[in-house]
Amino acid sequence: MVKVIAGPVDSDKNSRVRGFLDSLLDSKYAKDGFTNGGPVVAFRHPRDDRVNPEYMGRHKVHVTDSADEIASRIGSDTGTVVISGVSHYDSNLVPLIDALARSDRQVIVAGLNLDHHGKPYGIMEEVMALADDVELAKAICFRARGRDTCQELEVSRSVKLDEREYVAACVQHFKYPDSPPVSHNDLGRLTAYVGAVCSSKSTKWNTVRQKLVEGGIVPVVFKYFNGEDRYGQNAGELMGSGKITLHTGETIDAINISAGLHIEEYIGNYGGDSEFVFIDEAQFPDELYGSISRLVARGHKVHTNMLVRTFSRGPFMNTPSLMCLADEIKFSYSVCQQDGCGRPGTESQRVVKRAGSETIEPAHVNDPIEVIAGNRFEGVEDKDRYAYWGSCLNHLVLPGEDALPYSFDRYNSN
Ligand SMILES: [Zn+2]
Ligand SMILES: [Zn+2]
Repeated sequence: MVKVIAGPVDSDKNSRVRGFLDSLLDSKYAKDGFTNGGPVVAFRHPRDDRVNPEYMGRHKVHVTDSADEIASRIGSDTGTVVISGVSHYDSNLVPLIDALARSDRQVIVAGLNLDHHGKPYGIMEEVMALADDVELAKAICFRARGRDTCQELEVSRSVKLDEREYVAACVQHFKYPDSPPVSHNDLGRLTAYVGAVCSSKSTKWNTVRQKLVEGGIVPVVFKYFNGEDRYGQNAGELMGSGKITLHTGETIDAINISAGLHIEEYIGNYGGDSEFVFIDEAQFPDELYGSISRLVARGHKVHTNMLVRTFSRGPFMNTPSLMCLADEIKFSYSVCQQDGCGRPGTESQRVVKRAGSETIEPAHVNDPIEVIAGNRFEGVEDKDRYAYWGSCLNHLVLPGEDALPYSFDRYNSN
């Protein structure tokens, strides 16, 4: 399992890592420290702390910028791997994190969410695509002044004041650093509901929408539209009204969009109360990142519902970058049904009935990312038909997958 702690400069992400190491030491789980190849090994990128990288609080850690070096220090009895400053590593670290997770090890990484341009920091997007849990660390906005300003809301952006100094900022002061302190009620924010298929992410997302409606607020709802419904039939007009069907069978009215700009255009023309914006299947629309960045800076509260990663454990279009941008991330899981496993379903197992065949088989790793699929085999019989079910990482089957550059014997925790 991969846990990501992400946040801006000056946030409490390192103190959260220190607190975790404290508890492991105090509970005697890692009584010999974190550098001796025991049950917990801790690493840090030299750029994570330029003054004293070798110590996180009272704990000595390995300082290295090399994924190979980290891999060489994982013993058969190492169950937990901690990596701080993860956003500074090169992309070799990504398959290492994946290989550690697949060997049933716990991986806890901490790093910067966004750079000072507001873009995902370094490899953080690729790391987010592997996350099973995210903790967002926060800091106080550099422009906060007194009560009822952005001070009361901890924030998740970083801005560059001069050559050397970076400070934390709220969404408003990130975009408009010289604007006066703002009431925290007026600040925009992005809440991301993520999970694999068959998790209850859509239900959680919709419950928040329903509560707003009960409170007399009508959020604007958008759905991704590519021209076809799940049977391959024409499903209405772009920017026209469409329907989202939830697992419960309930339907919600939504505006059909295929790009972030459609949302901005609709809100610009709409004129109604569009403070709350709900976007379904947010992994798909083109250039959604830029649109959401602008909407939250203008005070909109955006709620996106999206798949955490592809069926082949890859980054799913907009999802990982929106996870870096998010002010709040809510994870959902299904339950793995394989062999009565019962572990949390963190993965989307895609299966296929090829055209003319009645055999159900796991889909090939190179099958297209965007296909028509549900939890039954839908679509016409003379085409490949896809379906999904929830799976744990252990039971995920991905025919055709290349071997990762790192591999570890499975860790036997119990
Ligand atoms: Zn602020
Ligand atoms: Zn399982």
